Amino acid sequence: MSLVVAKFGGSSAADGIQIRKIKSIAERGPGMRYIVVSAPGKRFATDNKITDMLYLLKTQIDIGAPYEQVLQVVKERFLGLEADLGVSVGIAGEFAAIEEKLRGGVSADYLASRGEYLSAKLIAAFLGYDFVDAAGLLLFGEKGKFLYEETNKALAGELAKHGRAVIPGFFGTLPDGSVKTFSRGGSDITGALVARAAAADVYENWTDVSGFLMADPRIVENPKAIKSISYKELRELSYMGASVLHENAIYPARLAGIPINIRNTNIPDDPGTFISADDTDGSGQLITGIAGNRDFTVIGIYKNMMSNEIGFIKRILSILEDYSIPIEHIPSGIDTVSLVIADKFLGDKLGDLIEDFEKKLGADSIELFENMSLIATVGQGMASVPGVAARLFGALTEAGVNIRMIDQGSSEMNIIVGVETKDFETAIRAIYKTFIQ
Ligand code: ASP
Repeated sequence: MSLVVAKFGGSSAADGIQIRKIKSIAERGPGMRYIVVSAPGKRFATDNKITDMLYLLKTQIDIGAPYEQVLQVVKERFLGLEADLGVSVGIAGEFAAIEEKLRGGVSADYLASRGEYLSAKLIAAFLGYDFVDAAGLLLFGEKGKFLYEETNKALAGELAKHGRAVIPGFFGTLPDGSVKTFSRGGSDITGALVARAAAADVYENWTDVSGFLMADPRIVENPKAIKSISYKELRELSYMGASVLHENAIYPARLAGIPINIRNTNIPDDPGTFISADDTDGSGQLITGIAGNRDFTVIGIYKNMMSNEIGFIKRILSILEDYSIPIEHIPSGIDTVSLVIADKFLGDKLGDLIEDFEKKLGADSIELFENMSLIATVGQGMASVPGVAARLFGALTEAGVNIRMIDQGSSEMNIIVGVETKDFETAIRAIYKTFIQ
């Protein structure tokens, strides 16, 4: 029997109907021994996520605005769940304790963590699993750095005492015992940590989509699902992966060699996507996925004899560092270098940055290309196959797309092209059509 650690996200814990689905999934076999849950998410499009409400509550308190109503809405949602599920875990008492604490001043992290804490209490009772608090098991150091090995030891020791348990996602504790959360979406990380500590055979991450799609469905009609993908490919496709799985959830699972299986709570028979060290679906598909992002600016720097000048790139990088601007890609030629930068990092710094470049680099010319998009075509299978790039460029030429930049990772697992944003969707559809359909 394989040991499964499952994480159910906010949409899977949103109401009684969804939580009953968790139960029937858990009852499919005895393997699902440890379950990590998120706070209840949205029940319908215009609904509020509990976590958002808890952050709002904290803001209201901080600015001295009335907060009772927000607290009441959160409380009623949990009381409603307790009644609906027919369990009794003392939600009213828990809220009395939270209100008491509120008067003494509480941190945003503590308040936000109560969403997962109460969700786990309810779901544990409903499933007949033990409740195991994350406090004291998921450990952060004094400066907030996450302590992987200490956590692994503490979690493994505690899990060994429970045949089956539900653990709240999203938070752990600092050395003084106070609550610290991960960044948003962090229950995925808790799930991976629990999977590692339990030496699980698989980490099932249950959400409201059947895994990753080969392209954005808003751009490509009915894209195929990705059956299996390697951790490395997923990183290359991180433009599209971020909203399905928290980036930092990969590390603990990868460290322990545990595959992650993204599954859909609403369509539990869908196999979903497997993420593992190797892309092993054996489909022979050249391309695993295509992902892209709009809103980049390319700064092209030209300087005669640049290639002979020692430390030129270093000077560019140190100017960017002064502005705290990260670079996405640096394609270069003999006497040219292009800096591809996401607009969100440039903000209103662009003018000053260019002025600094002009002053400090002695460049012959600096050109700006705004409204650029990047498209990554990723596939482990393309490394050893000749002609992939030719097919890709051919597809783009045929679609009338002008390629402004090309970058291929040294692993030959990805080809990144820069196109004007007006061509972004056309380019993705052309690449998809060429390789996938
Ligand atoms: N509830 C938290 C959030 O909304 C953590 C999570 O669901 O993973 O970000």
